[in-house]
Amino acid sequence: MLAYTYVEKGKFALLEKPRPQLTDDRDAIVKVTLASVCTSDLHIKHGSVPRAVPGITVGHEMVGVVEEVGKAVKNVKKGDRVAVNVETFCGECFFCKNGFVNNCADANGGWALGCRIDGGQAEYVRVPFADTGLTGIPDNVTDEQALFVGDLLSTGYWAAKISEISPDDTVLIIGAGPTGLCTLQCVLLHRPKQVIVCEKDAFRLDFVRKNYPSVTALPPESLLDYIGKNCPRGGADRVIEAGGTDKTFRMAWQSARANAIVTIVALYDKAQILPLPDMYGKNLIFKTGGVDGCDCDKILKLIAEGKLDTTALITHTFSLSEIDKAYDIFENRKNGVIKTAIRP
Ligand SMILES: [Zn+2]
Ligand SMILES: [Zn+2]
Repeated sequence: MLAYTYVEKGKFALLEKPRPQLTDDRDAIVKVTLASVCTSDLHIKHGSVPRAVPGITVGHEMVGVVEEVGKAVKNVKKGDRVAVNVETFCGECFFCKNGFVNNCADANGGWALGCRIDGGQAEYVRVPFADTGLTGIPDNVTDEQALFVGDLLSTGYWAAKISEISPDDTVLIIGAGPTGLCTLQCVLLHRPKQVIVCEKDAFRLDFVRKNYPSVTALPPESLLDYIGKNCPRGGADRVIEAGGTDKTFRMAWQSARANAIVTIVALYDKAQILPLPDMYGKNLIFKTGGVDGCDCDKILKLIAEGKLDTTALITHTFSLSEIDKAYDIFENRKNGVIKTAIRP
């Protein structure tokens, strides 16, 4: 089968590989019907994910049809349409039992697919712990609607959840890339009083204004002034940083009110500085890290009920043989791209 492979730093290539096999009773083999290219794939390509293993098939966001299951798998069977979870987790260790599945103590726990073990920008993928790693897709939900369930929507759902949003809150989301936009939809489910999205790209600002008319969309240069005039508590009550640059990191704590929760979702290419003397007395609560993706069933239910719909984010779809082109368009933000999908 064809599999898009992390060859070495700076180089991915479409290679012929053997079809994956079951290696454990809890595994499933999934025939990939739709996959996506994610910013984290670019981080691997550029060498900023040290635990990524050269030679692995990349891709960690996909949907497909179950082809084969191990003897111990109970929740899915051959022929089921499924969303694949970005995270591999046993469901039984201390961390899994507390919902911290990103920190699952298993050797393959956390983000393994398409990073430390073969992922899904390929025709087939082996999913370990299939009972926790796969979620059945309801009949009335399309592959396109379900594509982001395991990664981007899980991230947005988790970010909104851990930000502890109240109806009286102003929520600021920094960055309207794919993660910021999925987070925005999940934040809106909590019905906060005011939602602000800050983004420097004019096309993405327009996208927010068109698709989410209740949201205030601002470029970075207007943000602090707007917050000064429209946030009577001196800043946003909740800030979710999905930008991933030095500037957006700084903006996140600067635009938060005292005692606000600042949730850092972005993955940075380099270390960030917390200038503690500058923020002394602001008493911020920082929440950081990678998604605990254990709410896929709830997310799919919200999609089936029409409360979440991220299909508009898929601006381009390519076949697996055209995957280099999909990466080029996604990475270089060509042709008004938000997300590129791959149909193997
Ligand atoms: Zn991702
Ligand atoms: Zn675990």
